Parts: sequence; structure tokens; C-alpha cells
Amino acid sequence: MNSNSPTSVDIIEQQSVFNISASIFHRFIGIPTTIKVCSRGVVIDVENNSTNISWQDLTVPPSFHLSFFGQIISFKTEKRNYVYSMLAYSAKRKYKNMCEQLWASANIHRVESLLTAIENFTTNRYLRQSTLERIQLASKQELVRWLPWLNANRSSNAAKSLANISIIVQRLSYYQIWNEQEIADSRESYIAEQLQIHKSFFDQVESDPLTQCQRRACIIDNDNNLLLAGAGTGKTSVMVGRTGYLLKSLQGKSEEILLLAYGRKAASEMDDRIREKLSTDRISATTFHSLGLSIIAQVEGKKPKISAFAEDEKAKLAWIQGYFDTLINDSAHYRELVVDYLTNYEYIERSAFDFKSLGESYQYFNDNDIRSFKGEQVRNFGQLYIANALFSHGIAYQYQAKYGYDVQTTAGKQYQPDFFLPELNVYIDYHEIDHNGNTATYIDDDTYLQRIEWQRAAHENYNTDCIELNYAQQQEGKLISTLMQLLMERKTPVQAPSNELFSTEPIPTEFMTDTLKENGKITTLATLMCQLVGLYKAACLEISLGNTSNRRFNNAKHEEVIAASLAPKQTTRAFTLLNPILTAYEQHLSNSGEIDFEDMINKALSYVKTDKFKSPWRYIMVDEFQDISEPRARLVKALRDNKKECSIFAVGDDWQAIYRFSGADVSLTTQFARYFGATTQSALMQTFRFNNQIAKVATDFISKNPAQISKSISSIKQVDAPAVSLLKRESSQNNMAKTMSNKTMIIDEMANGAIDEVLTAISAKVCKPITVYLLARFWFLLPTSIDIKRLNNQYPLLAIEGQSFHASKGKEADYVIIIGMKKGIHGFPSAKTTPAIHEALLAKEESFKYAEERRLFYVALTRAKDRAYIIADMSDSNNFVQELVNDHHIELNEFDSTTSQSSVADLPCMVCDTGLLKKRTGRFGTFYACSNSPRCQHKEKPCANCDSPMTRKRYPGFKTCLNQPCKNIVPTCVQCNAEMVLRKSNKGEFWGCQNYRGNDPMSCKNSVDNANINWPELITEYP
Ligand SMILES: [Zn+2]
Ligand SMILES: [Zn+2]
Ligand SMILES: [Zn+2]
Repeated sequence: MNSNSPTSVDIIEQQSVFNISASIFHRFIGIPTTIKVCSRGVVIDVENNSTNISWQDLTVPPSFHLSFFGQIISFKTEKRNYVYSMLAYSAKRKYKNMCEQLWASANIHRVESLLTAIENFTTNRYLRQSTLERIQLASKQELVRWLPWLNANRSSNAAKSLANISIIVQRLSYYQIWNEQEIADSRESYIAEQLQIHKSFFDQVESDPLTQCQRRACIIDNDNNLLLAGAGTGKTSVMVGRTGYLLKSLQGKSEEILLLAYGRKAASEMDDRIREKLSTDRISATTFHSLGLSIIAQVEGKKPKISAFAEDEKAKLAWIQGYFDTLINDSAHYRELVVDYLTNYEYIERSAFDFKSLGESYQYFNDNDIRSFKGEQVRNFGQLYIANALFSHGIAYQYQAKYGYDVQTTAGKQYQPDFFLPELNVYIDYHEIDHNGNTATYIDDDTYLQRIEWQRAAHENYNTDCIELNYAQQQEGKLISTLMQLLMERKTPVQAPSNELFSTEPIPTEFMTDTLKENGKITTLATLMCQLVGLYKAACLEISLGNTSNRRFNNAKHEEVIAASLAPKQTTRAFTLLNPILTAYEQHLSNSGEIDFEDMINKALSYVKTDKFKSPWRYIMVDEFQDISEPRARLVKALRDNKKECSIFAVGDDWQAIYRFSGADVSLTTQFARYFGATTQSALMQTFRFNNQIAKVATDFISKNPAQISKSISSIKQVDAPAVSLLKRESSQNNMAKTMSNKTMIIDEMANGAIDEVLTAISAKVCKPITVYLLARFWFLLPTSIDIKRLNNQYPLLAIEGQSFHASKGKEADYVIIIGMKKGIHGFPSAKTTPAIHEALLAKEESFKYAEERRLFYVALTRAKDRAYIIADMSDSNNFVQELVNDHHIELNEFDSTTSQSSVADLPCMVCDTGLLKKRTGRFGTFYACSNSPRCQHKEKPCANCDSPMTRKRYPGFKTCLNQPCKNIVPTCVQCNAEMVLRKSNKGEFWGCQNYRGNDPMSCKNSVDNANINWPELITEYP
């Protein structure tokens, strides 16, 4: 509008319309003021000064006030108020109306062009929030000029001549009171028009015409746009379609569009699609990696040297592992720190008092795979500390060694002291009793103390030496010192011929590290360090911004991370281990003049933020947005703010966010608008991949987490029968001892024939070649490549491939078979707990338990086009399998299963509560052992008549055979819960406890006459 403002020369050159002269009064007292009024403005002459004001500069019409000395006329501009007094008394009467007319006709053009601009904006573009705000601001500024004046003149004579102006201003004021609905309508009419204009493009851009939702997603263009694209809903079609639409509608040129893909492979796939569908190679998708590179290259004039670590996580791990080893080998101090960390901080200590049941405590130990230095699966932290102390003092020990004499407990088991030290001939028992003499709530104090008494009696009887330790000592921090002191007392020349046998000083740490390496503890720690390096650097973004060449990790960040951590002590120690590695890593990069990925994003971000880089992009499109990390999101936001009128279009599916462990933050998707500002969110909910039955199970499953955005996925393919099928199969017993390191070992689902059974079932259904995925949480839970090759040969119609859940993202197969569905650290959902320091550096943990594992299962299920199979050992099955069986509509009867598999709910372990009894075969035949083995050692016998499992859940006080026709029923002992056995005496038949062992102190002498057994009412069914 300013460009239209006339210059003062213009005004002077104008023929004046009329002059306002000074009042008579003024003419007497000096050189009078005159005001020359022209069509473009006013020129005021005061003495020798001339002031020019254009009508456009006047924010309101000139105002006239009568005073004793004449009229006072004021001219108000944006910047100041010009006031002139002592003007002709008649000026108001003669000129006020004319001045106002001139002001109005000079200014109304601006209102008209504003209206035209607004109409252009709203009809030729998708109305962005920022545009809306600009419109409302501009119209508000205009209305402030016009409305007071128009209102004042409403009833005057001039009103008629102002009618035209009034109408124009009225049209503008409409935008001030624009409501949500009207804004939405305006946008809708734009979309409708675009849909019409570009119909043939949308029909032809992909092999199938784009759906209505896909078309709308191409057109919608707010400042920020989030497209939630469900699995198999064709998001890549939208990325390609939108790019083509922006080019075709001339909204953007190819160099103004930035396409960001998650990985290099995804980027090149998108390039292929664009070349094929849009016949252009002027646009190519880029990764964050190459985006960062090109920003830096452009600013610095040359490509930065990128470390191999930037994209090769394995190379980085190898370097860090190597350096970690060097530290351990060369520095006694560092070695001590490592040993101290592994001794005291590797796991987060919990005592029996923290748990509600024995099983819950076993679960904690299983989930965290808590093991001593020598690898023993200890049952409590007391045992852990004792085992590690013995080891680090070079004292030979046996964990849970058989007691040297035949002493049986009530439950008929051989007494096993916690430790036996052969060199000293000493036993150690650790009791979970606190300083008040209490045990955990789920333990019966009397029974526990009775057992201790009995153990003491045994040691006395057989004259064996036993050191007793307890939780009270542990609480006071005296557990190990007490142990050492008691051991020293026993170090007599007779028992320990060599004085070197042990001392209270630990053995030098170099003698310990080999064992720690062998059992993988060092590797685990090195892997953690490697993850921490990247995450910590990413977390230090703010601190190092603008100082990327000389990064210094400051203590403030340390403090912040420690404060955010759930286990501050552990986190502090981990930092002590991390610091030298971090320094060396940074040194290594700077020595070779290289930067890694974190540096690169950081540097690029600082160039964008400081305007050293001028972004050419007006349209930023990001794929797989659910897996974006905060630093990357920050770069996207900075690029948006760096370029005028730039919009962001993010495509993702919060249901498929699976990379939190590597720094992704799903809340950037679920809380998108909070991070980026005003957003239009839309969704693609029609899936082309899987049928309605898979959609239903998958949607219901993921929706259990209320934090996931609610969506209803609809399928093109409709089927009536359930399309998720469960095969229940006992895991092969030979595989019980399978360890991770033994990768050549055959996986359970191959060993027990379950995979073959499913493949046979699939083969029977198909008559043309199809694809089958075997999917597992971890690669090592998949069949080996040799096995997969064999399967492919064996089932010629099936193209079988193994994929981890993560790797299967974005892919599909006709059938999928999901395996590895068991409990534990390498089970699924993986119960593995993240070390506190690692956790503190990740996006805030979601409150819904196993939120990310749940999304992983959603990803796995939705790879299947026709049918998903799940193989599970029900006695070791995870929560997800149990939830599928209980809450979702899945096929349970496609395959036969054994009694123990179909009735696991009837077979809980009576000792630890959370375990389930699993069928095992040993030297003496079939037995049922607790799934929390080896920590829980409870076992039960099968039915004596038919070898089937027996349940205690049907009738209290009895075990009944689960094999219906067998109908075997046996009373259990009211004193010790063991089975009773029918015996004969001269008085008749009676049931005696199976733990009867004559006069042995632990013998259970409970017995009931057969006639007195109170058989359950339904016994009529058991003749
Ligand atoms: Zn148990
Ligand atoms: Zn039976
Ligand atoms: Zn008994």
C-alpha cells in the first residue's frame, strides 16, 4: 500500500481543491497557517515549513474542533498526530465533509485491493492458518480506520453518499467474525475445485486411481500437515501424488520441494516411483543423512568428511568395543570401575520385600536375566553379591550344591544350601530376613523359620559348617564384610594349607575380566556404551549448538540426565564409565577431521538457524514420521522457519512407531500440533493389504493403549472366518538349555515341528505361488538360512523368507507366521529392561506398559495379506498370546493341541503363583515342572493312570486328571499340599501323605481314613 502513497512532490504539484485559511485572530498575531487540500492529500504551510500528508497516511479523516481562537484541525498518521489551531471559524462547516470524502475515496482502494487479495488467497490456495492470521490482522487494521467514522456518520446527511464505502467495509469485517465452520467451508470449496480440475491427474498418477482420501491429502496444504496412514493404505502413492500435484498445479517448482525418506533404500524406491509415475528426475527423495551433508557442503563450500560411524552402527560398535577393551586391559583404575559397576550397579536391586509373590520376584530376575559373574541364575540379590564376592576374592564355590548327606525337605527334595566352598568345606545359606526378623509378606514366617531350624539341625547332626547371612546385614551394607570376616576365622592351617588360598583383599581385576568377557557381560556393557555415545550427543544438542567444532560435554547435562533417571546411583556410575569413551571417540573424530551423524544434524541445524543456509524449500514432505527423533524434527522445523511460506507435510502411523530405543519419539506424531503449531490432520484408513478379520484383531489389539490415536481401518477384502490362527505347541525339551551364544541350535518352532505343520496347512490352501514370512522379535529366533532354504525346497509353492519384526516394516506377504512368542528377556513382548542411563536419554517412557512392543506386534500382524499364524507354547506364552486368546476373535481350532497346552490356566505353580507347569520328560518318565525353572524348582507328577496333567484348581483339596475320560482324582495333604497315596493297614484303607518318611524330622505323618475323605459333590461322575 505504501508504494501507492504519493510523494510530497506529487501533492504539491496537484492542483489544490481548496484552501483552509487561518482565522482572523491568527492573522493578527503572526504569519498565518494555511492548509492546501488536494485530491491526494494536504500541504500545511506554517511559517517557512511545509508539511505534506497524503490521505493514505491518515489513519482517520481529519478532525475539526472549534475553539475560541478558531478551528483546531488534527491529522492523525500511524506515527504522530499533527494539530493545527487558529484556523478559519467556518472551516468545519465548509470543508469537513469534503475532506472526509477525499480521505475515503483515496483510501477505499486499499480496502478493495485487500479484499481482492483475500479472495485470491481463499480461492486459489488452501487457506493456511498463517494466511488466515495475516488476513485477520490486515482487516482488523483497516476496520479500526473506518468503523468509528462510518458509525459516527450513520445518521448524518453524508450517509447516503457513504453507502458504497459502507458495503465494502462490511465485506471486510466479515473476516473478523469468520467462524470455524465458515473457514472449513472455504477450505472445502477449494478442495472440491481442485479435485475437479485435477481429476484426470489423480485418476492416472498411480496404476489404480487414487482414493478420495489420498486425493484430499495431496491437496490439503496448511502450514503443518499430518497424514496418519494406516498399514497398507498407500502412503507412498500420496507422497508421489502430492509431489506431482504441486508441480502440475504450479504451486511449487521441483527445486522447492524437499522429500525426506527414512533410509537410503526407501529414498531410492521413492525416486523410482517418481521417475516412473511423474516422468521427472528433477526431484529426488533424500535421507536426513544426505540432507545434513548437502546443507553443510553448501555453507562450507565443500563436503564435510563423514565418519564411517555415521551410517555403519557395526563399525561404530567395533571401534567402541575395541577402545573399551583397551581401557580395561591398560587401566587398572578403569577395570576397577567396570568391576564395581558390574558388581553393584549392573542391576537395580530389589529385595523380597518389594514383591507380592515369589513368582513376581522370579519374574524380575528372569526379565532382567540377573546372573552372577560366573553366570549362575541367582534368586535374590544376597546370593548375587555373595557369589560375586566369592568370585572376586578367588574363592572356589558351588552354587546350590547338593548337601553332602541325604537330607530331604518336607517337599521331598534334597536339601541344597545356597553355596558350598570345597576348599574350606563350608556351606553358606542366605536368608531373606530383615532386622526385625520379618520375611516378605508372601512367605509364611513360621514355616520359613522352621526350615532354618531344620537346616541348623542338619548341620549339627552331620557336624557340617554353615555360615548364615541375611538381608538385615545387606541392608546395613555389611553383608560382604561379615562374610569375609567369618571366612577368615575359618582359615585354619588344616583347612587351608596355603596361606595364599584367599585373603580379604579381592584378587587383581585382570584375573576377573576373562570370565566377565566369556559370559558376555563386557560385550553387553560395550554395546550399552555405544548406544549411549550417540544418544548422549543427540541430547546435548542445545549445549553444543554453535560450538560443534569443539564440543564440550558439561556437567549440567550430566546432572540433568541423572536427575531424570530412575536409578541415579547406577546412572552416575555409568557416566563414569562413559566419559573416557566419549572423550576418546570425539578425539578420534577430530583427529581424522571427521564428523558423525549427530555432529552432522547438529551442524546443519545451526547453519539453518543462523541463516547461513538459505532454504530453497517451500514444501517439506517427511515419510515415516512416527520414527523421527527430536533433533531431526528440530531440523525440519528450522527449515520451515527459514523459508517464507513453507509448509510441512508429515506422513506416518503412530501405530507403527518402533524405534524408541534408537532415539525416536512417537509423541512428535501423537502431539504433532503441540510441537509444530497449527496443523491439519487427516488419515488414510482404507487398507489395500489385509482383510477385515486381520484389520479387526490388529486394530483392537493396538487400541488397548489409549495413547494411540484412535482410527478405524477398513479393508477392501472382506472375509467371514477369523484370519488370525493360533497353533499351540509344547516347545521341544531338548532346547531347554538353548542359549543365545549357541546360534546354530535349532529354534523351538522348528524342533517341535510347528513351522512344518503351519506350512503344510498353508500349502493345502493354495494352488499358485505365494509368499510367506516367518517373523520374530529377534533375528536369532528365526530359522537359520539353511533351514529356510530347506523349507523353500520342501514347499515349492511357497516363497518363504525370515524377517525380524523391525525389518518387516513396510513389507508384506500373503501369509505370515509369527514365532518366538515366549516370555522373558528374549521373548516377546521383550521383558528386557533398559539400563536407567539409557532410559533417561530416550523419549519419555509411555505410561502404557509394553506400548512399543504392542506396536511391534501390530506391525507383524499387519504384514499378512490373507492370514497370520501365531505359534506359541501356551505354558510359556506371553501376555500378548493370552490377550489374543481371551479378548480377540481368532481361530483356535485349526490345529490339534495336547491337553496340557489347551488347559494351561488349570496348571499354575502352587509354589510361586506366577509360573505354569510345563510337561517334561526325565529319567523317571513324564513330570510337570514350573516355567520359572530353574529359579522355581517345583515339580508335580502326572496322572498315574494316563500320564495326563492333573489340576488342583477343580476341587480344593484334590488333584483331578485333566483328561476327561480318565476321571482320576487324588486327595492332597492339608499339611504340606503334597499328593496323598492310598495305603492299606490292618484297620483298613487310608490316604497317607507321600512325604511320609518314618521318623525323619521332616516326615509328614498326615493321613486320613478312606472312609473319611470328603469327596467333592461331583464325584458321582467319578465312579
Ligand atoms: Zn513355580
Ligand atoms: Zn488320568
Ligand atoms: Zn503332607
